[in-house]
Amino acid sequence: MIVNSWARHYQEIWLERAGDPALPDWLRVASAAYGRHRANGHATFKRGQLALILASVDRETGAVVPLDRRHLYRAIQTAISHHWLSERSTARCLVVPAHAVTGGLGDAWEECPQHVRHPAKRHHSGMTFTPKRHHPVMSEGATQ
Ligand SMILES: [Zn+2]
Repeated sequence: MIVNSWARHYQEIWLERAGDPALPDWLRVASAAYGRHRANGHATFKRGQLALILASVDRETGAVVPLDRRHLYRAIQTAISHHWLSERSTARCLVVPAHAVTGGLGDAWEECPQHVRHPAKRHHSGMTFTPKRHHPVMSEGATQ
């Protein structure tokens, strides 16, 4: 019998790993996601925040240099290709894969502001739109 056992991980250590320049960028990106995701699997970041988490320090000037956009994009794509992140991940919201990670603050049905769907804007055909993850009881309160 195969048991898909699970354990809890402290998120703080993942955030520390995200800041470790000795690790490859894609692993730092994935670590940032694992250190910040909420129960809905989404880890949102302010504009430029992720680049700053993955910053390096200039050895000559001592200046903190945020990871540039192109390298950040590539790091996210690499983490996705390694299945450490969901393919829905962007620089503003990293999504952990549901097959690998569960739990976190908030509730699993919480809508992500970075991935919110705008049915009125996207569906001009007049089709009705039903959110997949709507949960009538859990969607109230429980946000932190
Ligand atoms: Zn999101």
